[in-house]
Amino acid sequence: MNKIGKLQDHLKENSVDAAFITNPDNVFYFTGFKSNPHERLLGVMIFSGAEPFLICPQMEIPDAEAAGWKGQVIGHTDTENAMEILFDAAQEKMAQIQTLAIEKTHMIVERYDAINEFFGTPKIVGIDEKVNAMRVIKDGSELEILREAAALADYAIEVAAKTIREGITEIEVMTEIELSLKRRGVTHMSFDTTVLTGDHAASPHGKTGDRKLQKGDLVLFDLGVVHRGYCSDITRTLALGEPGEEQKKVYNIVLEAEMAAVNAVKPGVTAAELDGIARNVITEAGYGEYFTHRLGHGLGISVHEFPSLHGSNDMKMEAGMVFTIEPGIYVPGKVGVRIEDDLAVTEDGVEILTKYPKELQIINN
Ligand code: MN
Ligand code: MN
Repeated sequence: MNKIGKLQDHLKENSVDAAFITNPDNVFYFTGFKSNPHERLLGVMIFSGAEPFLICPQMEIPDAEAAGWKGQVIGHTDTENAMEILFDAAQEKMAQIQTLAIEKTHMIVERYDAINEFFGTPKIVGIDEKVNAMRVIKDGSELEILREAAALADYAIEVAAKTIREGITEIEVMTEIELSLKRRGVTHMSFDTTVLTGDHAASPHGKTGDRKLQKGDLVLFDLGVVHRGYCSDITRTLALGEPGEEQKKVYNIVLEAEMAAVNAVKPGVTAAELDGIARNVITEAGYGEYFTHRLGHGLGISVHEFPSLHGSNDMKMEAGMVFTIEPGIYVPGKVGVRIEDDLAVTEDGVEILTKYPKELQIINN
């Protein structure tokens, strides 16, 4: 059954008259139309017992239709009250909406107030959990797109390996990577491309800067692309010339932790168990205090979505879930290593979507 049909069944089962979906990633999930409306109103109104409609800025109607949305589209211009237009359109589908579902993690208070005003203070319930539960399991066509997105991330690391040399700056390497991707048709990265060299990499969320690469540096790349609406996210740490002993040691501990967690992925294992498997390897090696973040995160239309792989999440992995595994060790002022793959849970194990080699690559350009 299609996604809107599934949500309609949920609404019926829970006696909810309609759901107003406004998170642009969720609007894309249900309609195929991806848009950043900024402050303008974008949403899809899904009724338990009537046809849904999309509401968007008037000027974007042709884009919504071109994106494949076959249902009704209601436009609003900058001089109109978009919430009033939403209400009028909803009334034509259903005279009285007594219970309305919204995304409580997305709707701003101003719109919440306007909904109460126009719709006559309906009972408001949250739909976030249901939509998250739907999105967390990817179907075959979503998996196919995620594979392609991951292949583009692999390509980016290949470019990175060819580009690094002594004296080039982090920003220059980043530019070369993004230029190469754009030549392959990638219009958006899933987040700011990160290139960190030497002890810069010892900050898990360090910012790419004008630092020059030196022989003996480990260089950390964290990047991903948005491809047909879906994100990839890869981290590789490459060596420019022969690294020092501690760098090699830290690298191999992270590699062992990453592979232990990856190999443990199968239906039924919990997020907390996977986090623990990687964390134990790093702790046993004496670096536990330097692994300062969760093991990974879900990946799909958003670069961070459910499930969250951390030590307190007892959610069981199921076939169709897609997430990252990305342990790291960050010794301030010294060394930073992270290795990150994108994975899909299969019926009996795991499919690794990112395929760039993980054994330490010593680059001599
Ligand atoms: Mn990443
Ligand atoms: Mn990540």
